[in-house]
Order: sequence, then structure tokens, then C-alpha cells
Amino acid sequence: MGRIRVLSDQIANKIAAGEVVERPASVVKELLENSLDAQASEIRVECDGGGRRLIRVADNGAGMLRDDALLAFERHATSKLASVDELEAIATLGFRGEALPSIASVSRLVLETRSEEEPTGTRVEIAGGKILSCQELAMARGTAIAVRDLFFNVPARKKFLRSEQTELTHIAQLVTHYSLAWPGYSFSLHHAGKELLSVTPVETLRERVFQVFGQSTLDELIELGERAAGGFRLSGFISRPQVQKSNRNSIYLFVNRRLIRDRLLLHAISAAYHNLMPPASYPFALLFVDCEPGEVDVNVHPSKTEVRFRQGSLAHDFVRDTMREALMASRPVANAPSASPVSGFPPGPAGQMAARLPYSEFTQAIENFRFDEASNVLPEGNAPPERLPEYTLKPEMPPPARFDFGAAPPIAVGFPEPAPEPLRLRVPDTHAKLPEGVTLDPPQTMAQLAGLRVLGQIYESFILAAGPDGLWIVDQHVAHERILFEKFLAQQAAGRVEQQRLLLPLVLQLTAPQEVEYQRIADDLARAGFETEPFGQRTIAIKAAPADLSPGEIERVVYEILEIAEHEMRRVSVDDFRRGIAASLACRAAIKINMPLDQRKMEWLLSELSRTQCPMSCPHGRPVALRYTPRDILRAFHRI
Ligand code: ADP
Ligand code: MG
Repeated sequence: MGRIRVLSDQIANKIAAGEVVERPASVVKELLENSLDAQASEIRVECDGGGRRLIRVADNGAGMLRDDALLAFERHATSKLASVDELEAIATLGFRGEALPSIASVSRLVLETRSEEEPTGTRVEIAGGKILSCQELAMARGTAIAVRDLFFNVPARKKFLRSEQTELTHIAQLVTHYSLAWPGYSFSLHHAGKELLSVTPVETLRERVFQVFGQSTLDELIELGERAAGGFRLSGFISRPQVQKSNRNSIYLFVNRRLIRDRLLLHAISAAYHNLMPPASYPFALLFVDCEPGEVDVNVHPSKTEVRFRQGSLAHDFVRDTMREALMASRPVANAPSASPVSGFPPGPAGQMAARLPYSEFTQAIENFRFDEASNVLPEGNAPPERLPEYTLKPEMPPPARFDFGAAPPIAVGFPEPAPEPLRLRVPDTHAKLPEGVTLDPPQTMAQLAGLRVLGQIYESFILAAGPDGLWIVDQHVAHERILFEKFLAQQAAGRVEQQRLLLPLVLQLTAPQEVEYQRIADDLARAGFETEPFGQRTIAIKAAPADLSPGEIERVVYEILEIAEHEMRRVSVDDFRRGIAASLACRAAIKINMPLDQRKMEWLLSELSRTQCPMSCPHGRPVALRYTPRDILRAFHRI
């Protein structure tokens, strides 16, 4: 007898479950999709224990006939496909007929359902794939599926589940995502009896975005008017470039209303923001790509989160260009370079400008700047010693040098043409190469920072200083960021963060996943100097914040910290998380570039910087200072 055997359905289902059901949120996804396919207009999700103990999804959709209720748990049983041809153009979210049998094989499941065509409903109970009972039941039209004790019979899988909060965050994200894609439907999410999300049907996506994210997020978004080309349609909302997220969690991507993660489209989104945002930051994007079902293959992965476009590059370019146009069109007029006294951008057509400038940093400049004279004065008698540099540099400033980090290295700290063209300042991205010949100082030379003589400020952004080791250019924002970062860390460790009490509590609206994160990290927020408390449905009130933050930044920092928490929930240690908070605080509280500083403040900054433990890079790894050594200078003048 041969050795090959056909697997029993029970084993096959369990294997399929490995692909379909990764975690509680995958169960929620499959059940939600089924409810949407059943044309339900009201969907209620309840869970407990982060979905590990219970997930229950109830809808008012078409329901199932009694015979179908049992058949639904057979492998490959679906009402959504009848022929191979239909597989070419799938209009429903489900089609594989795999979800229910897979989920039922790794949990204790109860299905309650009634179709309008039958006078009574049906209740089916299954555990580990075995049908335990099937009874008649009186109920209204619709379906409720309760999934208990997920992976009770697959201990290996169960071990991979994360904490209750983490799993709940995934569920909350998922329900939030689907609620965005279907504004005309009502969705609610409850965990252990507590309501996390509840949205009633609305007519427009704009209203749904308001329900889920609140007015302040809506204000930062650009609505894409529906655009179509080459068989694709795009609609949704994208953020202005100054909104920068540290991860992709705020990118919601739907193809034919199906939530997906698609590398091609994610790339198109990054490409649309190219040069408008620093690298490693991400926008908010809620995008709906629609096309004929035949244009896209959804049968690529069992969890149906990936798709393949028949004309991939067309889809990519269409999404990129449409977003790009919307970003250009929405560029605020107030930032027109010629009208702005803070920076000398070259004049030019608006579109061209925005395409080149890292305007996120620039447009944010100044508005919230607050230099606290009282706490930041230079201590009396503590002025840096006046040391003459070995090679004395002329004290006058040379005419404006052209400083172009992005392009070929122009290490010409020289004397350009007498009539200088408008200054061009490009902020280097974090990975930019340093111009040749410019040394990033190794940490042992820190002490020398204290002995530097401030020569002046260039571009209202960088401090120029001379010392025995050459000519230094210090990025004022990054330097201050480093000083504050270490100060915040020290204060947090000592448990006494200087606080400011707000006259009026600041009320922030949270999304459901943020609410879950908030509960998880409330203690860390308190330790960092924020006094917060829950304030009704998905809102918190901030009563006190760290002293160095200007009022306008408090809200941003709290959102940023929630974002770090969300991003890091999988792996980060408590320590790293606290460093993340301190880094975020420091970045927000630090003086910005495009900010004139007087001599005293520049000296204060350099002397404080020299006292930090690691003055040469900011908490995000950007360099603080560049140095032209005497050797570099001599070599440039062909003296050696
Ligand atoms: P698929 O969604 O791929 O068809 P599933 O295993 O998810 O496969 O579901 C099997 C079938 O059960 C569906 O085709 C549908 O007919 C029925 N079904 C599942 N959930 C619901 C629901 N909430 N309302 C009505 N019918 C449902
Ligand atoms: Mg399904």
C-alpha cells in the first residue's frame, strides 16, 4: 500500500487556519467581511481578553438558511462563487469559503442566524471543528457568530499571542479601518463591556473621518476629489506634508473597499511625498482605489490582504500623480518664499518650489517657539573661557556661502561672486552624506565645544563658531534637542519632571486604538510629566504638561507618544519606550531652525551642549555639528 494519504477535512482546516487566523484580529476581519458581504448595515463587535477569550460579531444582514448554516462550516463552502469565471472578477470580500471552517477548527464557536425566508433561526455549536449541536432558535434576521477560547486546541499558536492590550489594539485598528471604508453603515466595538468605538451611518466619508478622528485631524487633511484614469478611480484623504508620522499605521489603503497592504501602492504614497517630507516619516492617508474587479487579482494570499494589479505600474503612477497634484494644489499660500522673512527661498512657480523644498520643517518653524528667559539664562560667571584658536579666523562673516547638502559636495566655505544669488538652503536628510572634507567629530572632542567662540548665526538656523580644532557649524535645533533629551531623561529617572499646569485642560479626541494605547501607557505619560485623565468617550483631558513644551506642541507630543506606543508595542523595552518619549518631547520643545538667536543664547546653547553626554548626535541620530579642521581649511587653500 502506498504511503500517501489524503488529509481529513479536520486536519486540512486546521492547517488552513494557520494561514487565515493569525491572531484574534484576523477572526474579526473574516467575520466583519462576512457581515459586509451579507449586506448588513449594522455591525456590532464585542470582545473580551483582547479577543482571546471572546470575539462576537453580530449583524443585521441577510442571514443564512438552516441548511446553509451547517454547510458554511464545510471546507470550501461559499455562496459567493459558483464558477471559475467568477473568480476572475470577484465583487465580494470573501470567496474562498475557508474562513468559517478554519476559525471553527481552532476555537469554540456558536453561530446564530436567521434568514428572512425562514420563520425561525438556527443555532450551531462547534468546538475544535466538531459540530456539537444544531437547534432551532427565535431571533430577528441577521447573524451573530461568537468565537471563544481561540487556539484552545493549538497551544503552539496560543503561545504566539501577545498581551491582551496588544491584541485589542489590532482589533480596534481593524474595526476602525473597516468603519472608514463603509461610512453608510453603523459599527460598534466593545471590549469587556466598555465601548471603544461607535459610529452611526453618515452620508459622506468626510463625516466618517470626523466621527473617527475628530476635527483636528480633519483640519490637517486634504480631500482628494474623485479622480479617474486608465480604469482606476482614487478618492479619500491625505495629510498635508507637515503631518509626519513615525510609522505606517496611519495609512489606510483599500482596493475595491477591501483593506489591503500593498507594497506597490505604499511605494506610490511615499513617492507622492518625496522631498516634501523627511525620510522615515509617513503621512496619514485614507485611500480608496477602485477598479473593475477583473483588473485586480485578490486571490493572492489566504488572508486576502494582498492583491496583484494586472497593470501594476499604471496603478502605481496614477496613485502617485493624483496625490502629488492634490498636495501641490493645497500648498498654503502663506508659505510663499518671497513673502516669508524667515528664509531666503528662491522665487519660482509654486509647484516647482514645493516639489523641491523640505517644507515640512520650514513651515513649522517659529510658530510655537518659546525661549524661557527665566530658566535658560547663562549662569553668572560661567562664561566659556576665551581661547584663541590656533589658526585665527577672521571675525567678520564671509559673504553668504552656498550651502547645498543634497547635491555634489560644495565644500566652498569661500568667497562666492560679489552679487550672491538668493540663498539656497536645503535641509539634509538624515542619511545625507557629509560633504567631503567635513569631519563629524568623534565624541572625545566634546570638551572643546565649551571653548568655542561664537562667530555668528547663518541662515538663522546654524551657529558658526571657531575653536582650536577648526571651524564649527552647529545645527541649533538638533543641538537644543540633544540638551533637552538628556535633561528629560534625567528628570524622568529622578521622578521629578518640571511641570506646567494648564489654565484650561486640553481635551484630545482619540481613535479607538489610541484609546487602548492610552490606557496602557497612562503611567508612562504621568512619569514624563503629563497629568491626564479620561474625559468621556474616547477623549482625554490634559491638565499639566512638561514645562518646556509650548502650548501648541502639547497636543502633538501626546499624539506622537501614542504613536510610538502603537508602533513599538511588539518589541520595545520599557527603557527604550521612555527614551522614545524623551526624544519626542525634546524634538517638540527644542528651538526650531529659521529662528534668529542672539549671541548670549548661542553661547548658552554651545556651553550646555558641551555638558551633554553625547553632544554629537541628536536622539534620532542626526549629526549636531560639522567641523572643518584647520587641516581641511589649509588644504582647501592649497597651503598644504
Ligand atoms: P466566504 O466568505 O469565503 O464565502 P466563509 O467561510 O467566510 O467563506 O463563509 C462561508 C459562507 O457562510 C459564506 O459564503 C456565506 O454564505 C455564509 N456566511 C458567513 N457569514 C455570514 C453572515 N454574517 N451572514 C450571512 N451569511 C454568512
Ligand atoms: Mg468570508
